[in-house]
Amino acid sequence: MNRTVPRNRKAAVIGSGFGGLALAIRLQSAGIATTLYEARERPGGRAYVYEDAGFTFDAGPTVITDPTCLEALFALSGRKLADYVNLVPIQPFYRLQWPDGSTFDYTNDDDWLLQQIGAMSPADVEGYRRFLDYAERVFEKGYLELGHVPFLDFKSMLKVAPDLIGLQAYRSVYAMVAHFIKDDRLRQAMSFHSLLVGGNPFASSSIYTLIHSLERRWGVHFPIGGTGALVRGLVRLFEDLGGTVRLATPVERILVEDDAVAGVATAAGGEERFDLVASNGDVVMTYDRLLGHHARGRQMAAKLKRRRFSPSLFVAYFGLEGRWDDVAHHTIVFGPRYRGLLKDIFGGEHLADDFSLYLHAPSVTDPSLAPDGAMSFYVLSPVPHLGHAAIDWDEEGPRYRDRIFDYLERHCLPGLNERLVTSRIFTPADFKSELSAHLGSAFSLEPVLTQSAWFRPHNRDDRLKGLYLVGAGTHPGAGIPGVVGSARATASLMLADAGITVDAEVA
Ligand SMILES: Cc1cc2nc3c(=O)[nH]c(=O)nc-3n(C[C@H](O)[C@H](O)[C@H](O)COP(=O)(O)OP(=O)(O)OC[C@H]3O[C@@H](n4cnc5c(N)ncnc54)[C@H](O)[C@@H]3O)c2cc1C
Repeated sequence: MNRTVPRNRKAAVIGSGFGGLALAIRLQSAGIATTLYEARERPGGRAYVYEDAGFTFDAGPTVITDPTCLEALFALSGRKLADYVNLVPIQPFYRLQWPDGSTFDYTNDDDWLLQQIGAMSPADVEGYRRFLDYAERVFEKGYLELGHVPFLDFKSMLKVAPDLIGLQAYRSVYAMVAHFIKDDRLRQAMSFHSLLVGGNPFASSSIYTLIHSLERRWGVHFPIGGTGALVRGLVRLFEDLGGTVRLATPVERILVEDDAVAGVATAAGGEERFDLVASNGDVVMTYDRLLGHHARGRQMAAKLKRRRFSPSLFVAYFGLEGRWDDVAHHTIVFGPRYRGLLKDIFGGEHLADDFSLYLHAPSVTDPSLAPDGAMSFYVLSPVPHLGHAAIDWDEEGPRYRDRIFDYLERHCLPGLNERLVTSRIFTPADFKSELSAHLGSAFSLEPVLTQSAWFRPHNRDDRLKGLYLVGAGTHPGAGIPGVVGSARATASLMLADAGITVDAEVA
């Protein structure tokens, strides 16, 4: 990378989620001595890894899209992602399954896709083509052009307003899909994607249809060794570049002197001075806890607590003895209701009786994630966050897991309960306690238009000099491509503020 570095600068990144890691790599690649602080024993944030009874479980993200945004992190220092991680394409991307037994293999193989659409609803083949054309236009604008550009002032929002209006961003994902596609199941198949970033298809801006185009362009991938192997690859890259990682070192306070950030204090009692500090932790936690000693922290925390947050997730990780050869790597198991269930998930006060599930079966692609003759799985159910539904998850969690296992046994994995070797659960209460997630939200602020771009917490704080945000709570939002894009936006500001110029093509 070509760069000019005026003098030795030091930066701290608080949190080693994908956003924190990507930012730390960008800063270190540009010559800023960077220290990454992580509260937990292992890096990765929501992409944590559990190992039980010989099974490896990726805790969070498993659908790896846009490998180019990850490759770019290695290219900054002339390295190659392939030398660190083996990412393999997955086909089909997802198998979608409905209660009536019908299935749909979602893929970027045009013939296969159009044949299945035609079989379900011949009239929708042409509608799908027009939907794809729309999604591609949104993708060009929303992802390629704006997905990594910080929105710091209202002028920047006004500048893109005509494009957003032209693309009808004021309509919901579902409304836009329904405009082109008539079949109920195909409407679900083309609209569920906003859930991957914490958005309700009936409320999120149609901008999120870009995910459909993004998946078609670059495919869906999985790292051999699991998503944990990708995290380890990023940590290794950062360390090869000379960066410092401090695991099991929660930051307790961001030090501020004269309205400028001066460093961080850890829970263990140590203080270290830095010129620049970026938080990859939850945005409410960052202002409320790490900056609660400063008026700016208290003011921002109060403001953010009034915003809308994405739902939470209930996840059960489990290992089974035996093989289920007709299970796909990724399965979406739709329930009997779509709109009604989403309403319950995004605002209900109780757990719904039905559910829609995502089943992850990584052993289909990488048998090394389970002992010989066994398979590792996780199942995920979106549930209301703790602000909507005051559920005692210690009590409800095991019951809810059993209900889901029974459902899976009937619909996907015959013999599940008999062949169960190990299981563990992660509930909204764990999102709150383990990840300091406000209200136990799995994806931070809900991605609705009025909480996107300039309306989202900014990549650089407006008041405190030297303070930056990266990750799901800032622009552009959740999901691996989102938070890696946020790292690009945040790094561009940090480097410019540090007086460092880098080649435009790698910036
Ligand atoms: C179950 C699940 C499945 C998902 N599936 C997918 C998927 O398939 N594909 C996809 O693209 N996205 C998926 N997502 C979304 C995606 O995982 C997240 O949006 C993304 O990983 C969040 O990254 P982040 O950079 O915001 O940081 P996070 O992952 O939120 O990490 C933040 C880190 O900061 C640390 N931290 C917090 N406070 C402190 C402190 N005071 N001091 C030090 N460290 C601190 C935390 O311990 C944590 O490690 C999924 C999410 C979940 C929960």
